Amino acid sequence: MAQIAVLDELKANRKGRELPGGHMAWRTDFIARKKEDPDGPVAFLAESSPKRVLRTHYHECDQFQIIALGGGTLAKHTLAFGGIHFSRAYTPYGPITNGDQGIGFITLRAKRDPAGGAMFIPEKAETLKSVKNRTPWQVTEMPTFKALAGGESSSVVQFKEMQDDRGLAGYAVTVSANTKVAAPAPTQVGQYIIVTKGSLLTQGQEKKGMAVIWVGGDETPFELHAGAEGLEVVVLNFPREELTPSKSVTAKANGEFKAWQCVLCAVVYDEAAGMPEHGIPPGTRWADVPENFGCPDCDAKKSDFELIEF
Ligand code: FE
Repeated sequence: MAQIAVLDELKANRKGRELPGGHMAWRTDFIARKKEDPDGPVAFLAESSPKRVLRTHYHECDQFQIIALGGGTLAKHTLAFGGIHFSRAYTPYGPITNGDQGIGFITLRAKRDPAGGAMFIPEKAETLKSVKNRTPWQVTEMPTFKALAGGESSSVVQFKEMQDDRGLAGYAVTVSANTKVAAPAPTQVGQYIIVTKGSLLTQGQEKKGMAVIWVGGDETPFELHAGAEGLEVVVLNFPREELTPSKSVTAKANGEFKAWQCVLCAVVYDEAAGMPEHGIPPGTRWADVPENFGCPDCDAKKSDFELIEF
């Protein structure tokens, strides 16, 4: 049976704690760890105050994070409201620097993090490198909802970047008012559905505002039943968990140009392509990349990149 948690019904559970430097963090559990299923799904809203910096770290499980409040930056990327970040187990990401409004992420895991919490870089870098056959990879995507044409009852837009050969997928689904449609089926690991707009009719009640739904891998597709204002949801399918040799290298041998890869998070610097979005033009040789270059995804140093042998 799917588990449904509605933010407005959980506000009393918001717990705050003080952080060094005068910052604050708050946690609101949507789907808390259960005694009878201690390794089962976990979902919570993690908020923290403006300008706080959360250092680069990794977890020992796959996870999605959706930005539900405020915004900021993740290493060299902008984090904007509604954006979704996926990181495979053993993939460092960060630092996350909160903007002027602070930031709130909903963290979504199909199982409890075996490590129990964040593994920070550089302290845990050697531990990370000793993990055999890890396949680090992360991706950020901003969902696009397709407006319904006259007479259309629903639309589904699959995420472009957030997909892999293990079943990882995301969908932005729009449902017209007072209409029922089946959500895309979960993978065998399971699925989260996040209600971002409108209302959901379920178990004889109308649920309004942000909600999180866990659909287990052995369940049938969830019924999306839109209320009077219609419904927008994001559907996030977890990939199968596999530790197999990395297929995440996207660069190809390209004449005389070479490619270098971050040993921590697997980002590739391809000399032919450069990183124009980070101020490095195409064709820039690794030797000419500034020494203060940092990995765009995990903030590793230039010296943490290794030459890829094709
Ligand atoms: Fe990196």
